[in-house]
Amino acid sequence: MYNKILLTCYFFTMSAAPKASLDPAEFYINAPLYEVVTVAEDDSVAAHALIYYQGPLDTFCPECGTHSIFHRWLQNVPNLITAWMNDRRPDVVLHCSRNASHQLSFLLKVDKEKRTIQKIGQYPSLAALNMYDVRKYSEVLEKAVFKELTKAIGLAAHGVGVGSFVYLRRIFESLVEEAHQAATNDAGWDEGEYQKGRMGEKILLLRGHLPEFLVENRAIYGILSKGVHELSEDECLKAFPAVKVGIEIILDAQIEEAARRKKLEAATKSIQALAANNR
Ligand SMILES: [Zn+2]
Repeated sequence: MYNKILLTCYFFTMSAAPKASLDPAEFYINAPLYEVVTVAEDDSVAAHALIYYQGPLDTFCPECGTHSIFHRWLQNVPNLITAWMNDRRPDVVLHCSRNASHQLSFLLKVDKEKRTIQKIGQYPSLAALNMYDVRKYSEVLEKAVFKELTKAIGLAAHGVGVGSFVYLRRIFESLVEEAHQAATNDAGWDEGEYQKGRMGEKILLLRGHLPEFLVENRAIYGILSKGVHELSEDECLKAFPAVKVGIEIILDAQIEEAARRKKLEAATKSIQALAANNR
């Protein structure tokens, strides 16, 4: 499935920009500020549903410190399907189901003439909502690299697409370099061949030291490099979620591997202790 996402993302970056999303969860939680959503003539129902959205919105609540479900209580939802165009600065406030004083606030800008919707403000920030899920990666990333991951997310949240790709690419390179350092201890390792290779070839040489997902999806690096050199801010922002998921899967594999290694070490130790006692 993730291969498909990445391929789709690659396809998007190669072709014209796709239509931005009117899906409420996507728009409120994942879309960066200022991204312009154009509403096609036959999308008025979706725009109405977005502006008068009442939840449930499932996301991180910074005040609860965990995921929660948010709802909005609207007294009057207009029946008219084009009513969404009439409020130029809609204010959308959703409340945490654990504690109603925990709120997600969004300020939107609607342009009736251009039929566009933009998210121009939000609190808590998109970075704060997204940061929770990446905290666990601080276990497997060096401090400086983890900081770069949070910077990538923060930049994307503020509409800086190319800059966020620069950080993601550096994280990708550091994961490969870590594997390279480990591989130099392998019997028969050919450093000369490694140095000559392009990134895709290097990853193949390191396949014993890298998660399978990274080896299979080594095209991510190409997408990141293309982003840094050729793609527009908007194209990078659109591709950001898929590329970020790709890097998260690689890091998830590292967390699993670290846990497995820890368990193996503990088990080996206890078995050795048992064996010593039975001697
Ligand atoms: Zn809460």
